[in-house]
Amino acid sequence: MSKTPQDKAATPEKFLGLKVTKPPTNSVGLGALKSAIGMVSRYMKPVDAFKISTKINQKGGFDCPGCAWPDPDDDRSILGEYCENGMKAMAEEAQKNTIGADFFAKHSVDALAELSDFEIGKSGRLAEPMYLPEGATHYQPISWEDAFNKVGAHLNALDDPDEAVFYTSGRTTNEAAFLYQLFVREYGTANLPDCSNMCHEASGKALSETLGIGKGSVTLDDLYKAEVVMVVGQNPGTNHPRMLVALEKCKKNGGKIIAINPLQEVGFMKFTNPQNPLKMLTGGTELTDVFVPVTINGDVAFFKAILLKLLEKEEQTGQVFDKQFINELTAGYDAFIEDLKRFDFDECLKLSGVSKETFDAVFDIILNNDKIIICWAMGLTQHENAVDNIRELVNLLLLKGSIGKEGAGTCPVRGHSNVQGDRTVGIWEAAPQAFLDKIEAKYGFKPTAKHGYSVIEAIEGMYNSEAKVFFGLGGNFISAVPDTNYSAQALANCNLTVHVSTKLNRSHLVTGKEALILPCLGRAEKDYQKTGIQIQSVENSMGVVSSTKGILEPCSDKIISEVAVVCGIAHATLKGRSKIDWLAYKDDYSLVRDDIEEVVDGFDDFNTRLKKPSGFYLPNGARIRQFKTKTGKANFTINKLPEWKLKEDELIMMTIRSHDQFNTTIYGLNDRYRGIFNERRIIMMNREDMKARGLEQLQVVNLRSEFKGVVRTANKFIVIGYDIPRRCCATYFPETNVLVPLDSFAHTAKTPASKSVIITVTPE
Ligand code: SF4
Repeated sequence: MSKTPQDKAATPEKFLGLKVTKPPTNSVGLGALKSAIGMVSRYMKPVDAFKISTKINQKGGFDCPGCAWPDPDDDRSILGEYCENGMKAMAEEAQKNTIGADFFAKHSVDALAELSDFEIGKSGRLAEPMYLPEGATHYQPISWEDAFNKVGAHLNALDDPDEAVFYTSGRTTNEAAFLYQLFVREYGTANLPDCSNMCHEASGKALSETLGIGKGSVTLDDLYKAEVVMVVGQNPGTNHPRMLVALEKCKKNGGKIIAINPLQEVGFMKFTNPQNPLKMLTGGTELTDVFVPVTINGDVAFFKAILLKLLEKEEQTGQVFDKQFINELTAGYDAFIEDLKRFDFDECLKLSGVSKETFDAVFDIILNNDKIIICWAMGLTQHENAVDNIRELVNLLLLKGSIGKEGAGTCPVRGHSNVQGDRTVGIWEAAPQAFLDKIEAKYGFKPTAKHGYSVIEAIEGMYNSEAKVFFGLGGNFISAVPDTNYSAQALANCNLTVHVSTKLNRSHLVTGKEALILPCLGRAEKDYQKTGIQIQSVENSMGVVSSTKGILEPCSDKIISEVAVVCGIAHATLKGRSKIDWLAYKDDYSLVRDDIEEVVDGFDDFNTRLKKPSGFYLPNGARIRQFKTKTGKANFTINKLPEWKLKEDELIMMTIRSHDQFNTTIYGLNDRYRGIFNERRIIMMNREDMKARGLEQLQVVNLRSEFKGVVRTANKFIVIGYDIPRRCCATYFPETNVLVPLDSFAHTAKTPASKSVIITVTPE
């Protein structure tokens, strides 16, 4: 009896042998070196590891496929511009094992689904295209030509192009992403869901409305020069580790750091820079001045409390608000202030879960400084009120005039190396008409103006069989999305599922009636084409576009670049009716950049400027106080307080990453920074909440969520008592994505509310 899609999508309910210790009080340092060297020596060829360490994030080198933290504009460290997790990403991508026909002949899809995500990911690099016919149990090899034609046939067999879904992960370079969206639009749909739908979509919506651009306004240099850096709902020590170097420089320059998070993550508390021998000897740098243990989703309440006290001080002294900035460059101030006065300080502080003492420490710093930068990540964006969360922190920056000047501004930190670039070059299910008009003017076809599916809508479309073909350019869709059981059925309902990937992941096992795995080059691999080794480009969190060029020989001669895959699919699908010479792009990527220059704002002289060793900055109105909003000014906004009404036995759960994890990629089984080793089926609970439920440390429990009458369960998790606010708990994803309702998402942005899921915890 073959496994159900739900069985194949589920992470195995088996324990590995958990070890729990006290979390460390210092981050990076020797521990990071040991961990990185351990990973690299276990999975990579030493010569490759050496080459990679000298070229990753270096000028003229290749861009780390991990997060989107920027590289210094000026001098790059000769000791290396990478972090522990960057090296883990390379140990994953440049692993020496490869898998092809033999491997898949030995292992059925059902058998592979028995493995953990860690084991699946460590199977090896995909070395040749594989096909799973309808009803088959094992993948079998297929030629590239046959694979392209199979995709083309399925797409052309659809009654409507809107019956196809084209997903993009943030690893895709600008060139591949631009061609992909161009193909999809010429094919006739805008179904371009992408991973930013699940991460910073709410940031984009809130920042576009308030500041006129959906990106952060600061540069790396601003972080060094800030008087105050607030790190909100973000765990940089694990998810953007080189950010700790910037925070250390900010401290050195006299800056203050405030960390707002339900968990006291060691990464933002203390940092030992392994490139500084003195620090290695003396025990590192204290980073955070004030840690704020806010309750899950207590951010609007906390910021509103700050705003109320600032207003009180302003009314007393008239010395707090930047009135010139407010009067000249903002709109909506009066309505904002009138609404703010409706709220009660004590009630807001209570709702935030923060003590008065901690509040006062934060307030004193905010009151006396105006070069303020606020950094954030998923802890703010994966809630139903995510857009409000971000709009409220912008209100604070506007009152202080902390936008568009040195050392001040917004800093949404992107979690994937080119997720921002993908959106910039057109990976957008709701692209503006001006962009579509440029496509029409350049290529002579009229792209549909009808908005396409976001990730959540795509899952609903596949579940209801309105969408019948799923194409994933990178990523691990089934493990990234919420509501695993529902989403697994959605994929299984498809006629065809296709994944362009570097290595095996669980999405290859949760298939449509037919399935294809199309292996592509890794970021560190040379991309040989007719005109030579190609360079590509990426955009980091601060809007810098820089080049990336592979340095290693491809792990197999049967894998091709993402650009070549897109061109092959487009040619096979649109041949005879396309206005575009798809195969020409494959030979010379500078032609793609010429087109990007014509169609996308800010890429003037693209090919020439890309040769600049540190790349170039894209235009950013908020950075220079030019706010392209509906009012032409920076907008104050009115935001509600979230209303959580928890029943006696309910908790709010947030899904998080371990330290050995990058998005859905499981590098290892340890979470060293939280003292959790060799296990992923764990739940971190407040010890009073454990007592209230009669639960013991290391007891095995089952988790249950009920949302709009639908019950979801996840069994076999081990309780770990942890310093987390009352009624809050934390688990890892993808293990608990099954509990996250598909229809619980951020208003306006449709980002899954993975950071605030109401659950109950009962003994197994
Ligand atoms: S900070 Fe991010 S981009 Fe930099 S090396 Fe680490 S994972 Fe890669």
